[in-house]
Amino acid sequence: MKISRRTLLQITGVGTAIVAFLPRMAFASPNSLRTVRTGVQPGNKTRLVIETSQRPSYSLSYPTNQIIITLSNTSANANLVPALASGTIVRSITQAQVGDKLQIIANLSKPVSGIPKDQIMVLSPNGDNDYRLVLDFVAGQSAPAVAETNKQTQKTAPAKKYIVVIDAGHGGKDPGCIGKNGTKEKNVVLSVAKKLKTKLDAAGFQTYLTRSNDTYLKLAQRASIGEKKHADLFLSLHANANPSRAMKGFSIYTLSEKASDEEAQKLADSENAADKIEVDGFEQFSKDIRIALSALQQHAVAEMSVEYANGCAKQFKTMKITQQPGPDVRHAPFAVLRSTVPGALLELGHLSNAEEEKLLNSSAHQDKLVNAIVKSVKSYNFDV
Ligand SMILES: [Zn+2]
Repeated sequence: MKISRRTLLQITGVGTAIVAFLPRMAFASPNSLRTVRTGVQPGNKTRLVIETSQRPSYSLSYPTNQIIITLSNTSANANLVPALASGTIVRSITQAQVGDKLQIIANLSKPVSGIPKDQIMVLSPNGDNDYRLVLDFVAGQSAPAVAETNKQTQKTAPAKKYIVVIDAGHGGKDPGCIGKNGTKEKNVVLSVAKKLKTKLDAAGFQTYLTRSNDTYLKLAQRASIGEKKHADLFLSLHANANPSRAMKGFSIYTLSEKASDEEAQKLADSENAADKIEVDGFEQFSKDIRIALSALQQHAVAEMSVEYANGCAKQFKTMKITQQPGPDVRHAPFAVLRSTVPGALLELGHLSNAEEEKLLNSSAHQDKLVNAIVKSVKSYNFDV
């Protein structure tokens, strides 16, 4: 699944001009309900998605243990069977036609007092999807009064900026791996991280760096920055070293308790070794995260991470950046990826290979890497 450029522009709030040129729908033709589905999101959130043929005009109300979404000028769909995921607080969904308005009633196992504005999105059609009203909520939260309605005349989607945390690996007393000509991993990845931040900011994302200078951070601190910033995506940037100086190429990894292969395990061991310099803190953080995440949520985070990583590997191929031989995406127990935020660890190339050491130092090649990553983030399906 891909997020279209137009959807992305609208989400980031800069696509208003484009939308204005789209042919207007006749107001008389009723909107129709296509699908209703729920899913589990990181952070114990329930996601409710209502798909309609036209941009929905809606209002929300919150009777006890219910959310009622009232869609203007919309007809009920008698054949619709809501797709309800397990592990959410939505127990059932029914429809009620009230004049030309359609009420979608979500019956909840726990009360929700409101949904904050930044947790409500209207997405334009992309791929197989029509217009989607997306609501993310947790039990008990309250909504600011402004969140209640949107008018059909209002053409911009709520400006939800996706948050990306960029982690430049190593730093300070931990240089990471060192090339034959003395290039330090910590410096290369910081340079790429800063360029990546600039480009992602320009593309409408909200980004944060775990470090913006040559400082040492523990792996748990890095992961917890992703948590604190409520990141939608966490990218940890590294460069590789291999006993064989001939080995070269980019590789990408997601978190799993069991490594996909021996090489991935070795890499995780060496990247995790950064914390051996100061080991305290991680065990507790890791335990807290494990307790906070249900198995289902862990599964959702892992799935989203793999989806991103696959798309990223594809972009690197498209841009003809040398890939390390082997599978497109590998998995290993990287400590820095242990959080509720979907993410990946990118090994941008091998500093142990003389040719790649030179490339990784060149500004032009760094730009090429950054462009590939920006494309991968843009094409990642942040929504449903
Ligand atoms: Zn590293």
